[in-house]
Amino acid sequence: MSDKKYVYSFKEGQGVGKDILGGKGSNMADMVASGLPVPPGFTLTTEVCKAYHDAGKKYPEELQGQIDREIEKVEEEFGKKFGDANDPLLVSVRSGAAVSMPGMMDTILNLGLNDQSVEGLATKSENPRFAWDSYRRLIQMFGNVVLEMGGHNFEEILENVKDTKGVKFDTDLTYDDLKEIVKRYREKIKEIKGIDFPQDPREQLKMAVDAVFNSWNNARANKYRELNNIRGLLGTAVNVQAMVFGNLGDSSGTGVCFTRNPSTGENKFYGEYLMNAQGEDVVAGIRTPKKVSELQDQNPEIYDKLVGICKKLEENYKDMQDIEFTIQDGRLFILQTRNGKRTGSAAVNIAVDLVEEGVLTKEQALMKVEAEQLDQLLHKTLDPVAKTQAEVVAQGLPASPGAAVGQVVFNAKDAHDKAQEGLNVILVRTETSPEDIEGMHAAKGILTARGGMTSHAAVVARGMGTCCVAGCSEISVDEKAGTCTIAGKGIVIKEGDDITLDGSTGEVYLGKITTKDPEMSGSFAKLMNWADEVRKLKVKANADTPHDAKVARDFGAEGIGLCRTEHMFFEGDRIKAVREMILADDLDGRKNALAKLKPMQKDDFKGLYKAMDGYPVIVRLLDPPLHEFLPKEDKDIAEMASEMSVTEDKIRGKISDLHEFNPMLGFRGCRLGVKYPEISEMQIEAILEASVESTKEGVKALPWVEVPLVGNVKEFMAIKKIADEVGAKLGLEQGKDYWVGTMIEVPRAAITADEIAPEVDFMSFGTNDLTQMSCGLSRDDAGSFLKDYVLAGIYDKDPFQSIDQEGVGKLMEICVEKARKVNPDIEFGICGEHGGDPDSVKFCHRTGLNDVSCSPFRVPIARLAAAQAVLEEKK
Ligand code: PEP
Ligand code: MG
Repeated sequence: MSDKKYVYSFKEGQGVGKDILGGKGSNMADMVASGLPVPPGFTLTTEVCKAYHDAGKKYPEELQGQIDREIEKVEEEFGKKFGDANDPLLVSVRSGAAVSMPGMMDTILNLGLNDQSVEGLATKSENPRFAWDSYRRLIQMFGNVVLEMGGHNFEEILENVKDTKGVKFDTDLTYDDLKEIVKRYREKIKEIKGIDFPQDPREQLKMAVDAVFNSWNNARANKYRELNNIRGLLGTAVNVQAMVFGNLGDSSGTGVCFTRNPSTGENKFYGEYLMNAQGEDVVAGIRTPKKVSELQDQNPEIYDKLVGICKKLEENYKDMQDIEFTIQDGRLFILQTRNGKRTGSAAVNIAVDLVEEGVLTKEQALMKVEAEQLDQLLHKTLDPVAKTQAEVVAQGLPASPGAAVGQVVFNAKDAHDKAQEGLNVILVRTETSPEDIEGMHAAKGILTARGGMTSHAAVVARGMGTCCVAGCSEISVDEKAGTCTIAGKGIVIKEGDDITLDGSTGEVYLGKITTKDPEMSGSFAKLMNWADEVRKLKVKANADTPHDAKVARDFGAEGIGLCRTEHMFFEGDRIKAVREMILADDLDGRKNALAKLKPMQKDDFKGLYKAMDGYPVIVRLLDPPLHEFLPKEDKDIAEMASEMSVTEDKIRGKISDLHEFNPMLGFRGCRLGVKYPEISEMQIEAILEASVESTKEGVKALPWVEVPLVGNVKEFMAIKKIADEVGAKLGLEQGKDYWVGTMIEVPRAAITADEIAPEVDFMSFGTNDLTQMSCGLSRDDAGSFLKDYVLAGIYDKDPFQSIDQEGVGKLMEICVEKARKVNPDIEFGICGEHGGDPDSVKFCHRTGLNDVSCSPFRVPIARLAAAQAVLEEKK
């Protein structure tokens, strides 16, 4: 037997690290080391979890001995014995992975009680009601979590007794009622599981530890890790800790607090608590808790002590803390501290405030905000004018900011299904539970009748950046009937009705209210400026219209990295001219149609140059297969035939000529210009003539002509020749008045980059197509199985969302290296969807690209990620 250490007491855990002890265990050890009042306990490491699962649910041999020794130590320190019939030591058993996964895994409280010790506890505490309530909770959690019986079995019994007694709250139940509930719970376990509730505390502990380790792999934990991209962990740790009680009577209580407001970031001590309650009552949203400021009146001494400890914890961790505390008979205990989950806007405000308070440097602050979280700041808010004209029908807590407009659904499955159909939905529930995670993710907004700012709904919604109004007690929700009634107003909201939520104020409105696009100001602008001081990559935007270009500029874009010209071809009358060009039988016919398109294209480009005044505008020549411009349905074919005065047969003939089995590998990209040079000629003339006219109008136009889907330098040269001729005709000089470059989307282009490089001013990775062609995955169809690939670990992430660095990334590195060898001045960029993905942006920095281009709304994310890439390199 090895002497490997699998169990650490909180006293010896400092410095062991989160990977081994999990976040909770590691913080517990830190708190004990700082002398804070923490109930004693110990941690079974994440390595036990891994060993247990690797060995087919078997523990390392040395584990039991180590657990027994630690229990003895806790018994000694706490002065109570595990299993003692008169004064039992009770413990909590909780999960705790290296990365916090709130509510996703299991917890069991009050473990160690049995038929005898419950009487002992009743006598010792002089509070039989408390003892039986604790026993009732233990059996309920044990049945639900360890025996996996489904919580409804117990809830039904509880509700039934409450109904019979005519009481509303659990706290109204008497000692006799609780005894009756315990009896019925035990009968239920016997009926469903065929076993008695285990009376031996050590057996209870063993079964509970099994359950927590097993919960690492339950469906909701897996889903949470998938959604939050958490990977590479060994497993969860298990923390066993002496129980302290917040439900011993009116001088006991429990609560959760944050050192700053997790919704807004405001530097104001913030939290909620309930007297005579256990922790789960605060977070489960069953009773609506009080503001922690009220504790100041109720018990100023404890309040001051709590505030002092919280301050110390924040100073220690240099970050906003989320702290759980319990008051047992007037004595304060800290049960947990961790870096608090926060909304994107709170993250930004806190990071900037901590710099201004002298706690963090600007560089440290930049690393404190997850780039992806900025997405939430780029969300819509309710239009203030429209809002004044609308009536607030109910008021809840402002649990997660933003605005949401959508149709009401009453369960997670409907939320998921309707969102799949493309509908905007608002999930309305009495309260949410971890099972609802997928539906919460799919919903635009969440409304709950119960629960506080730290309820499950609030915590999860904030993490997701989804708008949420919680604890809206005026509404009562009947999930089964599919109705939500607003008390005293006679309003009944039914499934499918539209409502609007304001997650920043907690207001609920009937119908749809206009929303307003976000803007960048205050702390957000400050943080972005700091990012700009650090980053090396330029950030451009993919934009096809002057409006999008303006939004991109407002978010700090330094040019357009991709204008997909074909998007302009669908507007108004243009599609007619495009179709005329496609139907034309000869060159003259095509030229005629193209001449109609040219002035429109010129206007488009002038609009873009104006919006980007002084910044480059990369205009890509026509890219999609031509069949995309032709109608598919019979009625549309008939309409086109009559509009263009041609026969339907002619159109059908053309559609059949253009039919391809693999259109994405077919007649598209530069291939269109190679076969029909007049298309490229018209577009290049429009690009360059627009620039000449813009310059005359005082706009600094910087046109970059981009050739798509090049695989062979000769394809590029065919188009470049046209650009040379048009440039010469207009008296323009390449590299001074205009620039010509290519997309890198075909693996062959990346591998032969040294042949293409001498001819171009810039190269831009079209990683959508490059991924498709390198991995052999259809970008339009692979969605149906890529999720499974990611779950199976074949790809770490969906390669269409985040660059497959070992494969596609390798090709990019080869390309950059080969090209720069022969042309060191080449400007390298990326314009696939990956340009707005933080990990991909960091990869582009490491690969030595000059810029990234992404959708306008992701520009701030890319700016921050680009700065973080530099800071990570410095580490
Ligand atoms: C790409 O392929 O990455 C790209 C930007 O072009 P598109 O998505 O238009 O094919
Ligand atoms: Mg492409």
